[in-house]
Amino acid sequence: MLKPVPDKPRRNFVKKAARTFMLASKQDELPIDVDSLFEDNGWLLMPAETAEQQVGMSIPIEFWQNDSAEALTCYYADKFITLYKTQGRIPQKIRFTKAHELGHIVLNHLTDYEQPDSFSIERSSEYHTLEREAEMFAAEVLAPTPVLRDIDLFEAQYIQTVCDISESAADITVSDINLDLNVSEADKNAVLRKFHKFIYSASYLKRVRKNTCPLCGVALSGNENHCQVCGEKIHRSLYDHPKLYGSPPQTHNGRLLYCPKCKNAVLRGGRVECPNCGQSLYNKCTNPEHKWLLPGFARYCPYCGEVTTYYSSGVITEWRVDNYNADIEQDLFYKHIDGVPVSVDWHFWVHRILPKENVNLYIILKDSVATVEYGDLVVYANIDELPEAYIRESMLRYCGMDVISINIENGGFMYDV
Ligand SMILES: [Zn+2]
Ligand SMILES: [Zn+2]
Ligand SMILES: [Zn+2]
Ligand SMILES: [Zn+2]
Repeated sequence: MLKPVPDKPRRNFVKKAARTFMLASKQDELPIDVDSLFEDNGWLLMPAETAEQQVGMSIPIEFWQNDSAEALTCYYADKFITLYKTQGRIPQKIRFTKAHELGHIVLNHLTDYEQPDSFSIERSSEYHTLEREAEMFAAEVLAPTPVLRDIDLFEAQYIQTVCDISESAADITVSDINLDLNVSEADKNAVLRKFHKFIYSASYLKRVRKNTCPLCGVALSGNENHCQVCGEKIHRSLYDHPKLYGSPPQTHNGRLLYCPKCKNAVLRGGRVECPNCGQSLYNKCTNPEHKWLLPGFARYCPYCGEVTTYYSSGVITEWRVDNYNADIEQDLFYKHIDGVPVSVDWHFWVHRILPKENVNLYIILKDSVATVEYGDLVVYANIDELPEAYIRESMLRYCGMDVISINIENGGFMYDV
C-alpha cells in the first residue's frame, strides 16, 4: 500500500530514528565514520563515476545533467546501493550527502512510498517533505545534538570542525540544537553514554583551535590579565588545540556538589561555606573585593592574579598535576584487567549518574574501576560493601546493563604522582 506523503517533516520521528540508528552502530566519537555506517549494514556505497565507468552500471542521463542531484540510492538485488557524485564536491559536502541518503534508507522512504530511487524523490515537488526529513536525519547522525549540547558546542564554526561537516550543514545543526531542548531524558542519556569516552576525555578539543595560554594551553577569552590556570601574565597567545582542565563536581550554578575537604555531602542552598570545615563552596578570587564567580578549574584570578578559593584550599591541584592525571585517566579507558576491558559504562554511571543521584556513593566510588563480563560486575575499590540492589537497579536503568553478580576487589584508580 502506498502511504500518503507527510505534509510536513516528521521532526520527532526523524530525530528519534536517527538516534536509534546511531545507538545501534559502532560509532562512539566525532567525526562520525559515515562509510562504515553503510558497510556495517551491508549497504553498498560508491562514487557514481566509478559505478558507471568501472562497474558499468547504467545511470540515468538526467542524474548527470542535473547538477543539484548529489546522489542516487536504489534498492537492487536485495541490497540498497548508494551512488554519489564526487566531482567538484568538497569532502564535507559528500559526507553530508551520504548521511542524507542513509536517511532515505533508514526512514523507509524508498519502501513506504514505492519510489524507484532517491533521485525520483529529489526531483518531485510532491516529495519535498521527504527531502527535508533526509536532511534532518543527516544533521542528527553527523552532529548528534545531545553530544554537542553536552560539550557546549554551539558555534557553527566549531561544530563544522568537530563534526567534519560543511558550513551550511553546521547552520542546520545550530538551529537543531536550539529546537532539541525536549529530547527525552532516556534518549539523551543513551547517546551520552555511547559517547562518554569521547566527551569525558575531551578528545574533540584535538580538532578545535583557539587562542590558548602559551604555558598551560588552556583556551583564553582574550579579557584576562593573568591565565586562570597557571597564573602567568598574559603577553601573547598561541593559536592551538586547547587543553581541558577539570573542575570538581559542581551544581549548575557553580557550587561544590560536596565538600572535598571533609566529604560532607549535605550542603543546603544559600550556604557559601561548608558548615563542617569552612571550605568555600564557590570558586572566587581570595581578594574579597573580587566577588565574581570563577570557573571550577580556575586557580588564579584572571584580573589580579591572586589564587582562588578552590586552589588555596587544595580542592584543585597544581595545573601540571591535573594535566598529568588527565592523561592517566584517558589511558584508563583502554586498560584491561585480567584480560577483561575496563568498563566505560561503569565510568559513565559513576561520573555522570551518581553525582546527581547519590553523592555519598559517588564519593566512595569516584576512584573505582570495574569490569563487566557476562553480567558479572567486578568493582575495584577500597571498600568492604556496596549497596548491591541499588547498583543493579540503577545500572539497568541508566546503562541498560543486567548485573547478575557483584564482586569487590581491592584496588581502585590511584593516581601515581
Ligand atoms: Zn534526497
Ligand atoms: Zn596558563
Ligand atoms: Zn567541609
Ligand atoms: Zn582577583
